[in-house]
Amino acid sequence: MKPPTDAPPAPTELNHSIEAPLTGELRSVVPHRSRNVGPGNRKTAMPGDGLELDSTRRELAFWRKKAVELDNAVFEMRALLQSGKGFAEAGTVEELLHAFMAVCRERYGVASSAVLLLDDLDPDSVFYRVRAYQGLPDHYSLDGQEEELFMFKFPQDKGLLWQLVQQGDVFSVLDLQKHPRFKTAFARWNLGVLGSELWVPIVRGSRVLGVLTLGPCDDGAPVPEHEYTFLQEIAAVGATNIDSAVRYEKNVRILKNLQTLYDINQQLANVNDFKALTMESLSTAVGALKAQKANLMLLNPETRKLEIKVVWGNIPKATRDAINDGRMETRPFALGEGVAGKAAASKRPVRINDRSRIEQVGRNVAYCILAVPLLYGGEVMGVITLTNKVRDVAGSLELDPIGRFGEEDEQLLLGLADQAAVNLHRARFYSESITDRLTGLANRKHFTTTLDEGLEHVRRKGSPLTLVVVDIDHFKKVNDTYGHAAGDTVLVAVARELAATVRPGTQDKAFRYGGEEFCMLLPDTTPEAAEALLNECRRRVEASVVPCGERSVQVTMSAGVASAPAHAASARDLFELADKALYASKTGGRNRVTVAG
Ligand code: GH3
Ligand code: MG
Ligand code: MG
Repeated sequence: MKPPTDAPPAPTELNHSIEAPLTGELRSVVPHRSRNVGPGNRKTAMPGDGLELDSTRRELAFWRKKAVELDNAVFEMRALLQSGKGFAEAGTVEELLHAFMAVCRERYGVASSAVLLLDDLDPDSVFYRVRAYQGLPDHYSLDGQEEELFMFKFPQDKGLLWQLVQQGDVFSVLDLQKHPRFKTAFARWNLGVLGSELWVPIVRGSRVLGVLTLGPCDDGAPVPEHEYTFLQEIAAVGATNIDSAVRYEKNVRILKNLQTLYDINQQLANVNDFKALTMESLSTAVGALKAQKANLMLLNPETRKLEIKVVWGNIPKATRDAINDGRMETRPFALGEGVAGKAAASKRPVRINDRSRIEQVGRNVAYCILAVPLLYGGEVMGVITLTNKVRDVAGSLELDPIGRFGEEDEQLLLGLADQAAVNLHRARFYSESITDRLTGLANRKHFTTTLDEGLEHVRRKGSPLTLVVVDIDHFKKVNDTYGHAAGDTVLVAVARELAATVRPGTQDKAFRYGGEEFCMLLPDTTPEAAEALLNECRRRVEASVVPCGERSVQVTMSAGVASAPAHAASARDLFELADKALYASKTGGRNRVTVAG
């Protein structure tokens, strides 16, 4: 807390009511009030001799008493005003709460205190959670586990304790024997952790913003009862400031989130590739929400199960890459199963911030989890699930054991999920429009644009682009002998071999050009390398036996290879040369690969 620089000095005419001299920064802000001196305790000397002087003395006593009362009132007002000023100067909610506690500490010498504020961490019930404390241990024990004091919370219920809090009056939570007055609540919510004697509700209008809990004074004595009114006034001043500070912080977060959403939207608008989009969506969500790890599941429309498509964050790299490249499949989740399944089934976000309510799997503790459905047109496309928060510790991100997913996190992820769903739908639509239905390879339309783009790249960068055209040998015979359906099965089988020819981590692409003709575009590949690759593919096709109903079919394929810029520069010339090479393969006896030139 920053003491106001223009704070007036403690008024000298009030010094008689101040027992100890004021020291320390807060004493310039908050006049110290001895707990033994109050309006009720003040002794006014009244020597009584001489009857005629009686009325004058009584009058004098009356006015003296009045003056003392006025003194006290001025004193209190000044204290309130000055603490109010101190509160207003606090920059953050935490600073403000510490200033608030410091007022009580300085005034009564309270050994420990805590402020619990309404929190939004549990969407299902109203909780008050420790937001600032002093003089208390940093951890407490919960079900045998050590937990951060910042995670200590208790719910609003209908019990006597809460009824009192709601009334807004300061009250003692211990009886004269120092036993809890609210045994059930104390036992149930572990309230002994706070080491409190006195509770000061922080109320604004009809809303309970929080509670200030005070422990005993340094000398073990309780805060005197006649001080309750002052505490209540301080709490009222504090409430106004806490309310605005909390709202301000919330608005700052919302504004930041809107900015994030805007940026991400700009960023994702240009990504057409479905896979890249899922990766982008998830990595941005992880970054924006400071999550430790995340996954994106998509609903398989046939099985009606959720399948993990992308994982991100603190997951072993080998596993992460294997899943993200589609090389590793994980167990699918049914709708309603697990946190993600629940989000999908209910079409609503699921947010759990209580680790005892999260099913713990594996070695790493899940402290909090947030899952939101990807909805498009009211239909579930998938789910994004985030686990745990991280914080910046000296430049590197580490697990934040007291980080939880708040309401704004949920709103932000919902916004992100909405955008992701729209983009994914668009990408899926696009990807359908460029995919051949029978074989799943890219179609001729996509081949044309990819070839044009590739050649543009060749012109700018000078790196080679190799085109391969493939044609199944005597395919007409397959149709004629085994029927059209068998022919289709063979087409799918050959397409699979061509897809397998695509080298991972490269821009290689296989297309169905039409009928039983296929193409491959291999950037940064020499004609010789392409020839070798295609010969391997050709051998696999030759060796494979394609089961078609009762029978099985074996086919061979021929290919022609041409490269830009070595053989040609334009799409037309390049294709013509590759086709010529294919023709050479056919006339040369089929089941072979020929390079142009
Ligand atoms: P070559 O070795 O010279 O290429 O002989 P081919 O019989 O493969 O060549 P041709 O061009 O004479 O025959 C291609 C056949 O492919 C004709 C057509 O019926 C068949 N075809 C084209 N598209 C499809 C399809 O989608 N499914 C099936 N089953 N057959 C198809
Ligand atoms: Mg043909
Ligand atoms: Mg053919």
